[in-house]
Amino acid sequence: MENFNPFKMAQQQFDGVAETLGLDSGTRELLRVPQREYHFTIPVKMDNGTTKVFQGFRVQHNDARGPAKGGIRFHPHETIDTVRALATWMTWKCAVVGIPLGGGKGGVICDPHNLSDREQEQICRGWIRQIVRNVGPLQDVPAPDVMTHGQHMLWMLDEYEHIMGAHLPGFITGKPVGMGGSLGRTEATGYGVMYTLREALKGHGVDIKATTASFQGFGNVSQYAIELYMQYGGKAVAVSCWDQKDQKSYSFIRNSGIDLKELRSMADKFGSIDKEKAKKAGYEVADAAAWIAQDVDILVPAALENQVNAETMGKISKKVKFVVEGANGPTTPEADQLFKKNGVFVIPDFLANAGGVTCSYFEQVQCNMNYFWSKDEVLSKLDHIMTGAFHGVYELSKERKIYMRDAAYMIAISRVAEACKMRGWV
Ligand code: GLU
Repeated sequence: MENFNPFKMAQQQFDGVAETLGLDSGTRELLRVPQREYHFTIPVKMDNGTTKVFQGFRVQHNDARGPAKGGIRFHPHETIDTVRALATWMTWKCAVVGIPLGGGKGGVICDPHNLSDREQEQICRGWIRQIVRNVGPLQDVPAPDVMTHGQHMLWMLDEYEHIMGAHLPGFITGKPVGMGGSLGRTEATGYGVMYTLREALKGHGVDIKATTASFQGFGNVSQYAIELYMQYGGKAVAVSCWDQKDQKSYSFIRNSGIDLKELRSMADKFGSIDKEKAKKAGYEVADAAAWIAQDVDILVPAALENQVNAETMGKISKKVKFVVEGANGPTTPEADQLFKKNGVFVIPDFLANAGGVTCSYFEQVQCNMNYFWSKDEVLSKLDHIMTGAFHGVYELSKERKIYMRDAAYMIAISRVAEACKMRGWV
């Protein structure tokens, strides 16, 4: 899997749908690559007195439907192609749920596990200083993603506002509540994943209370997906997570059901669960891939891209009938073909995990009004949008007898292509 290139995968997915939709060559050429890309250095004076130079990125894939929108990842293996792929998926994500935003993504090659808070703050401020002319509430609006959270967003906002000389809280989303953040933003991605699953199960006449599920990842998306799944009455039996000390992942399995509160109490702030504590609490600690090999009805990959691939695919139980992609790009095209062939119902990433960006959109709206909604109001608006988007895709997939990912792509790409055409770009 060393040669996995997420951007090639995003382009491959796009090309297939562009062909089905019969898009003209100009539109294809425009949409298969980002409109703009920035690659810059961020020098940071480290705590030990040395200077370290970090590599930063921002990619704006398409802004025909509104300002570019998407998170910033801090990851030691970040590459420009990962950021390009993720920016592309953001364009389709905003389009499929019908919010007036385009697609962007950013990143820094770094591992926050090994950086002090002060060093991380310097990376955030440096990132802004390098890109300040090309981002903004009306151009490109960043947000958290893998290994970034509200504190990073606030440092970035503070730097941006200092340079601009004004309060501009709509510049960035995922801010802490009370500092321009929206209630419900932390839960939004994971809950959104579950709103789509709830609708899919209803559509198939399956009672969620009679289902079991296994989750990959124990970060923000996975934790809140598990939370709502359990509130709906489902039984989560396994979860996998990254172990910083061992530099590899493990799966934590308990057939009687995992206890979210207990696991949270054993995890650090990056979502790494303490193995010894888990063993004492009756969890089987197994290898990284064990989460995917569970005899469950539902799999929720909610970690990184390229996790459900030709290699791990063979481990999936015949019992699995639903896959909900909490992560971006978790399933490779080969694995996707097998899901299609075996009749597994897949809720594709850019639909399933659109709750985060939808709530970011609500955050911007609230910041612009300077009037904040209650958590119930936010979550009910979120449920409304996610449920509506799910059914739009589901209806098309039933009507045309096509795979959910293809239906979602057809809706999203048509909307973006139409916006480019109406603006006179193509
Ligand atoms: N990083 C999240 C995503 O991949 C949220 C992006 C946003 O809120 O702009 O969808």
